[in-house]
Amino acid sequence: MANNWPDWLPIRNNLRGLSPYGAPQIDGVISLNTNENPFELPEPVISQMLEQLPDVLRSLNRYPDRDALELRKSLAKYINNQSRQDFSVSNIWAANGSNEILQTLMLACGQNGALGFLPSYSVHPLIAEVLGVTWTSASRNPDFTLDIPAARSQIIAIKPSLTFVTTPNNPTGTVLRISEIEELAKACAQISGLLIVDEAYAEFSSETSAVTLISKYPNIVVVRTMSKAFAFAGARLGYLIANPAVIEACLVTRLPYHLSSVTQGIAIVALANAKLLQSEVDLLIAERSRVTLALESLGFKVSQSSANFLLFSGFQGQQSKVWQDLVDGGILIRDNGITGFLRVTIGTPAENDQFLAAIARHKP
Ligand SMILES: *Cc1c(COP(=O)(O)O)cnc(C)c1O
Repeated sequence: MANNWPDWLPIRNNLRGLSPYGAPQIDGVISLNTNENPFELPEPVISQMLEQLPDVLRSLNRYPDRDALELRKSLAKYINNQSRQDFSVSNIWAANGSNEILQTLMLACGQNGALGFLPSYSVHPLIAEVLGVTWTSASRNPDFTLDIPAARSQIIAIKPSLTFVTTPNNPTGTVLRISEIEELAKACAQISGLLIVDEAYAEFSSETSAVTLISKYPNIVVVRTMSKAFAFAGARLGYLIANPAVIEACLVTRLPYHLSSVTQGIAIVALANAKLLQSEVDLLIAERSRVTLALESLGFKVSQSSANFLLFSGFQGQQSKVWQDLVDGGILIRDNGITGFLRVTIGTPAENDQFLAAIARHKP
């Protein structure tokens, strides 16, 4: 439809050239393309959710708790346990996936534009464009790390309301050290901007979380999701940790009753089982090392990753062909449009074996 809209449709001008976000979803293949957790929720967790459901269903005639207080309490407890902090409900907000969190932040605080360092999560600039928030793309080093002095200068020159960093970064897997985040936060503070730290993959990384800086730097906003570590992508639950003023600003722009009572009810159960779910994350971290070594021994070059996926190269200009051959063989990985690279999500051990057998046929 892009650029071919009917005359009678008063679509906004800034949307005319856009198309909907769309990573391919193909039936009957091994899906290693959207960084989902490959494990279904454990049976005991599902049973506990089913025990909760009758009460939730009996009150579906009523609107959900608009402020999701019980859920936010559970999220605060989880983050406090994980990072030894002392956050309360006033520091936490939850929404339908971290994408809704990101959109709400841009609606509330995007008036002087947003800055990001590519390659990174493509949804950040997409949401900005849709909302008419001016987006500036800066770049990363050839090894996908961030040049912190250069980034600081760009922040100070461009003066964006919102500066986005993703750590571990998607699609590269690279992390920022906590001291680097602090440097960026100082630069953002200098121009009265927020530093949005997208930590969608935090549970897969051993770096200190940026939540530990919030009490010192009120302009740091940490965005998290239950889509990856909690094996909960289908439920749509994202959240942010920030100074209470940031949460107040989000409440002004959020839609009333945006988070269903079903979502709130089952997310609380999932959070109560955080330990059990983290053991699956540990297994994925071990698989990440195994797949990295296997790819390297085939001759591929693998970017250092602290997430549940690997970005790798060595296709001698054949990246699209390799991607298609894998799909034809029933394995879907991701071409993020970075020349020479493909990204694979860490799956179950059996899925990883199948991927490694398939990619071995394309070794450099
Ligand atoms: C997967 C991902 C998200 C998650 O989005 P949800 O809407 O919570 O599913 C957010 N940020 C990054 C960088 C991601 O890779």
